[in-house]
Amino acid sequence: MPPWLSLRFLCSFFLVVVAAAQTGLPPGPPAAGALTRYEFVAPHMGTLFRIVLFAPDESVAQTAAAAAFARVAELNRIMSDYDPNSEVMRLGQPPAGTAIAASAELFDLLQRSQQLAAASDGAFDVTLGPVVRLWREARRTRRLPTDADRAAAMRASGYANLRLNPADRTITLLAPGMQLDLGGIAKGYAADEALAVLARLGLAHAMVAASGDLALGDAPPGTPGWKIELAPFGQPARDPLIVVAANVGVSTSGDTEQFAEIGGVRYSHIVDPASALGLTTRVAVTVIARHATLSDSLATACSVLASGPVEKIAGCLGDSARALVLRQDECGMVQRATYGSSPPGLRTTL
Ligand code: ADP
Ligand code: MG
Repeated sequence: MPPWLSLRFLCSFFLVVVAAAQTGLPPGPPAAGALTRYEFVAPHMGTLFRIVLFAPDESVAQTAAAAAFARVAELNRIMSDYDPNSEVMRLGQPPAGTAIAASAELFDLLQRSQQLAAASDGAFDVTLGPVVRLWREARRTRRLPTDADRAAAMRASGYANLRLNPADRTITLLAPGMQLDLGGIAKGYAADEALAVLARLGLAHAMVAASGDLALGDAPPGTPGWKIELAPFGQPARDPLIVVAANVGVSTSGDTEQFAEIGGVRYSHIVDPASALGLTTRVAVTVIARHATLSDSLATACSVLASGPVEKIAGCLGDSARALVLRQDECGMVQRATYGSSPPGLRTTL
């Protein structure tokens, strides 16, 4: 196996180290036909997007990275829940029950979201916007929402209240006060789309990382895959878990950074649709799936499902996703379990 160069990504629960293989090139201009490794970082979607790619020269690399970042910015204009003028925010403006024509991207993403909502029994649900907003406020003020506020937010949520009509590509929010929140899937989707831009420009040996969501393309030249080190619960592990993979999505969900302590209880930024409160189980999930849209959303779903009867996880993974679930008890002991089957691009056993 060739030696590795390491890149570090600090994400929610895991320290992820992505290692690209050394090209073995001597210093100086690359030989004709040889590929050189380039890395680009830019802030998008409230986090840092990182691109690693192998290209014939710097100008090709820069042009491709700029096109990939432009695609992410374009998607953010559609999907942001912080921008009142984004397409997703404008959906909530007309009276409930109004059908609104949607962009192809938003419609596609909502169709995928609804499939997972059904498969996970609503553990993953993009219609939880009112609940997520209420919970964000609770984290900010360190005060739990009232029962009445939670009940109202739950009435304005629920994936059964989201109607998608493929015939005329319209979206209808059926319950008053509904708002969509794509925070659990948009970064994975944007990483996939950015990777697709690079591939269309002829750069297939590439990866895009949106914080804890990685879209991996073809392996670094001459290597079996991208090497990722998982360090659960924010600690660099003594015995790290290593994943080697190509052409898959790898996502982690957890609450190392985005948590709140209220009344001595630690709550996650992922909400439990059953209680309209943040998760309290200390759980870290990594999912490897065919692409990052799926791994991102599945990691969020598995985090919710891991706080209840965990057998449900296997049911929602489908036939080509693998989940590693780590749970930490009050004494700090970590239990490890895996679910689902590995997608073809996963080279290591997990
Ligand atoms: P991260 O943003 O740390 O990568 P996730 O991918 O799990 O973590 O996304 C968490 C975000 O997803 C939250 O900030 C919120 O916007 C949204 N969200 C929270 N709970 C749910 C849920 N049960 N289903 C779908 N989306 C959720
Ligand atoms: Mg997610």
